[in-house]
Amino acid sequence: MPGSALVAARKAACGLLDLLFPDECRVCDEPLRLCEPPYEISRVPVCSRCLNAPEFFRAEFYCAACRTPFVNRAPLDEAGLCALCRLGLNGFDHVYTFGAYDGTLRRLIHLFKFEGVETLRKPLGALLARALPRECGFDAIVPMPLHWRRRWQRGFNQSELLAKEIARRWNAPVADVVHRKKATAPQAGLTSAQRRKNVQGAFEVKKGRRLEGMRLLLIDDVLTTGATASVCARALKRAGATEVTLLALARRDRRGGMEVAAGGAAGLGS
Ligand SMILES: [Zn+2]
Ligand SMILES: [Zn+2]
Repeated sequence: MPGSALVAARKAACGLLDLLFPDECRVCDEPLRLCEPPYEISRVPVCSRCLNAPEFFRAEFYCAACRTPFVNRAPLDEAGLCALCRLGLNGFDHVYTFGAYDGTLRRLIHLFKFEGVETLRKPLGALLARALPRECGFDAIVPMPLHWRRRWQRGFNQSELLAKEIARRWNAPVADVVHRKKATAPQAGLTSAQRRKNVQGAFEVKKGRRLEGMRLLLIDDVLTTGATASVCARALKRAGATEVTLLALARRDRRGGMEVAAGGAAGLGS
């Protein structure tokens, strides 16, 4: 093929790609590079730089069980546990999260959850997998359920899509064993105690599901105070589960002020 024809063919192909795929990153608004390296041809409308931007959550002081970060050692006992874990108020046994709920990670979660970009399940699932130690073993992966009305409005349960990504990698089945029987009021603006009260009795293990002796991995997208996940974990334990580990993409950093070490501003909006 003569050079000019090749150039024309390439231009036509690029034109077609531009039509088929979105051309701007939905996070940073930079054009996606379809026709030059690193060839960002995928159904994910986010550039590779933004997909690689989220960083691991870092904290100097945190609870050994729920990994809640603190500005100093004072809230932790000799065993390294926070007051909630010490008093058994957290229904789960371990918690793993990837990053702080701010910046790019927060934007990616919003795109996935509220703007219907379901294709983000793979890159977000990959981040989630990085947060979970490889040696952890589970009998089943349980997605945090949505109330049926919320699920119907959204068209999917984001935790279920993430659970499938983890199930593939950890070779454990997804078990849709628990349902949300109460459409709870939004938790934003409530104190920890009010949040616990708000979600009391919100979850129920489905009839006939036996969980005796099972080690379960509960998957959620964002962990705020852990009150909702805690109530769900307790319902799973009442049905016989021996261990419930919580895995979430992001956690809100509630240390407050500007001393937040994890990824800049405290950004606790939404
Ligand atoms: Zn970008
Ligand atoms: Zn704790």
